[in-house]
Amino acid sequence: MSSKVYQSALQDLQAAFSRWRKGIAFAPTRKTKHNKQSFTVYDSNGSVLVKSGKFIKIPTLGTFRLTEPLKESYISQTFTISREADAWYVSFAVNAERIPPVMHEVAQAVGIDLGVKTFATISDGTEVEAPKPYKIAKTKLGRLQCRNRNKRRGDRRTGEKASNNAIKYYKKMARFHKQIADKRKDFLNKTTTSICKKYAHIKIEDLNVSGMIANRKLSTAISDLGFYEFRRQMEYKSSVFGSKLDIVDQWYPSSKQCRKCGHKHNRLKLKDRVFNCPQCGHIEDRDLHAAINKSECTG
Ligand SMILES: [Zn+2]
Repeated sequence: MSSKVYQSALQDLQAAFSRWRKGIAFAPTRKTKHNKQSFTVYDSNGSVLVKSGKFIKIPTLGTFRLTEPLKESYISQTFTISREADAWYVSFAVNAERIPPVMHEVAQAVGIDLGVKTFATISDGTEVEAPKPYKIAKTKLGRLQCRNRNKRRGDRRTGEKASNNAIKYYKKMARFHKQIADKRKDFLNKTTTSICKKYAHIKIEDLNVSGMIANRKLSTAISDLGFYEFRRQMEYKSSVFGSKLDIVDQWYPSSKQCRKCGHKHNRLKLKDRVFNCPQCGHIEDRDLHAAINKSECTG
């Protein structure tokens, strides 16, 4: 292997140790092959030109064909090669001008309510549905696992080796998991980008982690949908696209308090999809009501 691989790994280790000493991270742990598999190389002469097209020349490694051709030429120095399932990726940083702030289509504040039924409800009435493939994929995954339940998987204790078909099955599973993960990533990225581009002022709620995890049925749905990733992306994309992001207090009763008369509707259950105020008779879709409430919340 190239010496650059070890050098960059040691640089990372040094960074990890100094973060630990400063108290901003846990002590470094050993990487295993079950973690993300990656390594970094760089050119000792400084920056190199990465030409546009179907091929990429990576310092110390050679020339490789790309699945997705580069549209433009870039200048970069370090290249990180990583593997996911059985696909290989190369990533490198380039110097670029920051995206100029865009004009937002909607200037007034909007609130976003995240939910299991409708992924996101925006207070102007827009609804974002989560892609269906999740559920289909889950069923497919279960079927695949069931069909292969009798494969000789190999056992380290008894020294039994995994059969060739079991190895094929493992590869298939890895690809399948990656496909699902990629679909989710694609959906979340597209959603957060379009929201941050469109709205100038966005209010989302601070996720009530313990409360949501306590409800087992909800917690799997939430981790499937990627609410935390949604919020993380919203946080950095709002600054990229120049929109203002407010985190509304998690205890703000946006779903329970009637937005017309302020009555607290405590008998509202999770399964009730419509907000029906017992005091003033205001009727509205539950998620939309919560989203509008958030958009009007100050604090
Ligand atoms: Zn009311």
